[in-house]
Amino acid sequence: MADTDKGQKRQAEADNGTTEEKKLKADTEQASQSLLSKVAHFREECAASIADFNFNKKRVKVVSDVKDMPEENEGILYWMMRDQRVQDNWAMLYAQRLALKQEVPLHVCFCLDPSNLLPLRHHSFMLNGLKEVEQELSKLDISFHLLIGETAETIAKFVGEKKIGGLVADFSPLRKPQEWVQDVAKAIPKNIPFCQVDAHNIIPCWVTSEKLEYAARTIRPKVHKQLGSFLTEYPPVTVHPHKATTKHEVVNWDEPMNDQKIDRSITEVDWATPGSTAAMDMLESFVKERLKVFATERNDPTKEALSNISPWLHFGQIAAQRCVLVVKQFKNKYKESVDSYTEELVVRRELAENFCFYNEKYDSIEGTNEWAKKTLEVHAGDERKYVYTKEQFEEGKTHEDLWNAAQTQLVQEGKMHGFLRMYWAKKILEWSKSPQEALNIAIHLNDKYSLDGRDPNGYTGCMWSICGIHDQGWAERDVFGKVRYMNYEGCKRKFDVDLFVRRYKAKMN
Ligand SMILES: Cc1cc2nc3c(=O)[nH]c(=O)nc-3n(C[C@H](O)[C@H](O)[C@H](O)COP(=O)(O)OP(=O)(O)OC[C@H]3O[C@@H](n4cnc5c(N)ncnc54)[C@H](O)[C@@H]3O)c2cc1C
Repeated sequence: MADTDKGQKRQAEADNGTTEEKKLKADTEQASQSLLSKVAHFREECAASIADFNFNKKRVKVVSDVKDMPEENEGILYWMMRDQRVQDNWAMLYAQRLALKQEVPLHVCFCLDPSNLLPLRHHSFMLNGLKEVEQELSKLDISFHLLIGETAETIAKFVGEKKIGGLVADFSPLRKPQEWVQDVAKAIPKNIPFCQVDAHNIIPCWVTSEKLEYAARTIRPKVHKQLGSFLTEYPPVTVHPHKATTKHEVVNWDEPMNDQKIDRSITEVDWATPGSTAAMDMLESFVKERLKVFATERNDPTKEALSNISPWLHFGQIAAQRCVLVVKQFKNKYKESVDSYTEELVVRRELAENFCFYNEKYDSIEGTNEWAKKTLEVHAGDERKYVYTKEQFEEGKTHEDLWNAAQTQLVQEGKMHGFLRMYWAKKILEWSKSPQEALNIAIHLNDKYSLDGRDPNGYTGCMWSICGIHDQGWAERDVFGKVRYMNYEGCKRKFDVDLFVRRYKAKMN
């Protein structure tokens, strides 16, 4: 190369930086970006909009008899139930895809059924998350409607008034939302297509397996075989080009927030800010601060090792799929942690969904395996050293400091450490009159106080601990029969029990 050429190249490099410098600059810029903006960029890179994306139709389940839209079609409605977020939501994306194809407005509604009100802690977390949904949607020219009333009647009325030509709902395997879907299907006109999209699971629940799975070992190969084709990036929900012509009423959030029927004794918690932005912040803090020790310290309740994302996952304010996509980027750095997190979030969580979807008795002793039913029955009459009532459990008034401390964490913070949840439920079995009463108490307390309660994971967790589902038989002993046992000494071997108890002692009543 002639000297002049070399000089020109050096000059150009000085002006623009070498390729390596540029890469370093880009990496540094990316590292300093918030996860929220990085993720927005990934979506944009994936596709310009859902219209340009190859949507996997296996995510869709048709509920109605008809599939074609009626002639009179003034909009598509996404009935948001469980997946309370705008982006990273396959149900929202599918609804927008239909609306774009039909060239009609897109509406999103959430129906608050007064017969199904949550305690203040959960109610406020949910409504504040929905407020963020409304704000985000308004920037995209998509109208959000908070409907209040009996579900089927209210949705059907809205469908009629807005001349909706197609209805999309998200999916939950639980009894109540399944009933709502059936009731709405009966209440809307027969010529309107209605479908459900599983926006909560990475692999749609009905695709992962067509039957009730026996254990993690039986569902795991099915999950891993199909994960590749479902664990994709999401395209963005984009500004909707067809605006609703009717005047859109701004949501009055005060009315549902001030409802006198809400149980206000279960107060809000300050560690969990509601909404999708806060969810992404929690995910970001997990990958930056806790993921590195997830594999080694997640069973120690005195350590900060867990993701803590379950409340946002429960209310659908963040997608499990997004969590996996983000965490997977750290596979080279923290392989063991990434693998364990994926096992929990994908295999264990989707096993819980499978359990509730294919087992109507997911919250009853009747719903467990024959061996467990039999062994619990055989030991139902065994003498219990301690027997507590629901109220004594609720107030954390047992003889044991660790159990009381865990209960205090649940009541005051709205979330109990994952390892202690197992121990806590098993002790309820040991100290209750009967296994069914123990199950009822555990579910009641978990649903009442835990921000992530009323979730397939909760019913499955209680059924695992008390009724042995997804587990094997162990050495037979009093009360538990062959159901796996846990004890205080075991906890002491795993973590500093005294330290944990001291943390909550001052907070106990
Ligand atoms: C008695 C009992 C009750 C439970 N109740 C609930 C509940 O109401 N809601 C709830 O979401 N989970 C529940 N779990 C499961 C688990 O304990 C929680 O998901 C976990 O503690 C949530 O905290 P995290 O987000 O920090 O989880 P991490 O430990 O960071 O795990 C990441 C994610 O993996 C999933 N996960 C972890 N453990 C399990 C598990 N055992 N089964 C299924 N999925 C799992 C969750 O989605 C969780 O958010 C319960 C478990 C037991 C034994």
